[in-house]
Amino acid sequence: MKSVHDMGVAELASALKSRAVSSREATQGLLARITAHEKLGAFLHVDAEGALARADAADAALARGNAGPLTGVPIAHKDIYVTADMPTTAGSRILAGYRSPFDATVVAKLNAAGTVALGKLNCDEFAMGSANENSAFGPAHNPWDVSRVPGGSSGGSAVAVAARLAPATTGTDTGGSIRQPASFTGITGIKPTYGVCSRYGMIAFASSLDQAGPMARSAEDCALLLSAMSGFDERDATSVQQPPQDFHAQMLAAREGISAGKPLAGLRVGLPKEFFPAGLSADVNTAVRAGLAELEKLGATLVDVSLPRTELAIPVYYIIAPAEASSNLSRFDGVKFGHRAAQYDDLLDMYKKTRAEGFGPEVKRRIMIGSYVLSHGYYDAYYLQAQKLRRMIADDFQQCFTQCDLIAGPVAPTVAWAAGTGADDPTQAYLADIFTLPGSLAGLPGMSVPVGLGEGGMPVGLQLIGNYFKEGQLLHAAHALQQATDWHQRAPAGF
Ligand code: GLN
Repeated sequence: MKSVHDMGVAELASALKSRAVSSREATQGLLARITAHEKLGAFLHVDAEGALARADAADAALARGNAGPLTGVPIAHKDIYVTADMPTTAGSRILAGYRSPFDATVVAKLNAAGTVALGKLNCDEFAMGSANENSAFGPAHNPWDVSRVPGGSSGGSAVAVAARLAPATTGTDTGGSIRQPASFTGITGIKPTYGVCSRYGMIAFASSLDQAGPMARSAEDCALLLSAMSGFDERDATSVQQPPQDFHAQMLAAREGISAGKPLAGLRVGLPKEFFPAGLSADVNTAVRAGLAELEKLGATLVDVSLPRTELAIPVYYIIAPAEASSNLSRFDGVKFGHRAAQYDDLLDMYKKTRAEGFGPEVKRRIMIGSYVLSHGYYDAYYLQAQKLRRMIADDFQQCFTQCDLIAGPVAPTVAWAAGTGADDPTQAYLADIFTLPGSLAGLPGMSVPVGLGEGGMPVGLQLIGNYFKEGQLLHAAHALQQATDWHQRAPAGF
């Protein structure tokens, strides 16, 4: 039998169900691997004792024969989800020592589905970043080349899956934080339509953009996780009121009118010309084009489309996201949660010292930008303009979807970059978000699917963007691609 860490979610779930392996054995095996690969910096907290207790409960359910599709499968959570059994930091010193009295809805749902939480994963502070280098607890390293970043902000989530420390993890995506690290580490990730997963207990960065999603090796594994994570939640005012979805069934369902042998026949894939600019790295272009050729072989038709405001997504996002962040982060004041300055003169001084000590430089930068664009006199010039453009960007997508079913392009303009290169000029990393931000601003579902290796043998992801609530179609296309290719099964050397 394959070792547990080589199995994806679906494979492990069936080995558990047939009792070929117990959840306790699987959990122990992965816990040992997590310790052996501690230097990757994937985990901020490992809960061995709690995980083994959860595994024993799962084994009991498996023995009784009332197990669900995920019972006993070990996973881990981005440390932006609050958890009652484990500490939560959001990658920030300001939350050091914080314990939530409740579980985030996504965590509660995955617990109820019988998954075994192994621990909490490293991330950029409050999910602000693209390299996991803004974590107050140190960076995470890309297992394909440890001198490079794993992407961010869900860097730990990506590293854990890529290094086979867990078959799947949770991530969050505000402007690309699931798709970009998935692309950088050769795994599969999906950000569903805004509102499909509850944001309750997901520490807020930019509430109108934040969305939860799974990261795993395959589209099939993502579908299994997403089915369990999603669903209406009355505690999230922007949660979508729709019945529970079986994304796995949707993924498998053949599209209407498909002819035999061609799983993607009739599927129109739009290529926005703005997603293939002159500045796109040649290696990324080559791998993405190879992925597109594969989709064509499977029956899809490629059509040229345009998203004319793609470049504007960067300034729009970097106004709206910091604006919302400056408001959301006002709750970290030393009174309610986590860190409080040891010495201060009065209340105002306590706020100031606590926040000065607790927040890292990128978070402070965004609070300042956000406060600026929301302040009297600048609101109309920046924030209101950004909101208007946001609407136009969403309209551009609807224009495209009159010509195609899915939109495809690169996730990022380059492969994962060398660690330590972003510190001098934070705006360089902002520019690299160009292909993920438009879909985020529109609230559309998006995926990253591995399609090859580029410069330095580093993975390249193909981005697929669907129309609202077309997760099933996205997963179907990605699954078809993964049935025909094996990029998603490749592990970094030594893992
Ligand atoms: N890189 C983007 C940022 O720094 C996106 C982060 C995210 O999606 N959480 O804001």
